[in-house]
Amino acid sequence: MQTTKLIYLENFNLLTSNAQVIEIVSENNKEIIILDQTIFYPQGGGQPYDQGMIEGNSAKFIVEEVRFVDGTVKHIGKFEFGNFQIGENVKCLVNETRRVLNSRLHSAGHIIDMAITDLKLNWTPIKGYHFPDGPYVEYAASSNELDKEKLKIDIENMGNKFINENRETKIIFMDKEKMKEVCHFVPEYIPEGKPSRVVMYGDFGIPCGGTHVNRLGDIKKLIIRKIKSNGANIRVSYDVEGPVGIER
Ligand SMILES: [Zn+2]
Repeated sequence: MQTTKLIYLENFNLLTSNAQVIEIVSENNKEIIILDQTIFYPQGGGQPYDQGMIEGNSAKFIVEEVRFVDGTVKHIGKFEFGNFQIGENVKCLVNETRRVLNSRLHSAGHIIDMAITDLKLNWTPIKGYHFPDGPYVEYAASSNELDKEKLKIDIENMGNKFINENRETKIIFMDKEKMKEVCHFVPEYIPEGKPSRVVMYGDFGIPCGGTHVNRLGDIKKLIIRKIKSNGANIRVSYDVEGPVGIER
């Protein structure tokens, strides 16, 4: 299958764009649309997939699920009416409410990384789950002698300080060597010798392929729900407050 150009990697603000239909496949009573390029975020990096629609001259396709498989983005869903022609130019529209919440939750997860670094806690990030149904970030760390209630307040206060500073989010592609200079933590799986994406919150870099807020103030407010030890791991559960945030 042809690889899909990932527009969201370079510009995660684009919620409408054009694309060309490369292939249409039926699978498990669903249709899968393959495009030459996409603004739809496929699930990954702890962030849920986008939803939305793809419109053609005489067809409308509802995108229910988006997956990345071996370089190809699969837009999975069903036609509301009509069908696309191979080679047809179509218009992609990403559901903004869902994307904005997912971006706020993803950025908020990294705000916790920043707070933990500033608080000089020597925790290694191992997992981020930025889904609206119970977001958390997990770290490898010794949990002995931790005052979890105090930490909860300290991380929340530090995180909200960053949000109030309203730092700008920037995207930079760089190789792994350079990454080690601007990122507090560079995961093993980042490939050597080719540029990968780093999200910069001011001078704090995080290797990440997800979608983010443009300015940290767009997160509105960070809430630390709970800090829990889980063997050698510490799980920090959090949420964001504000429109379509915690009151959902
Ligand atoms: Zn990330």
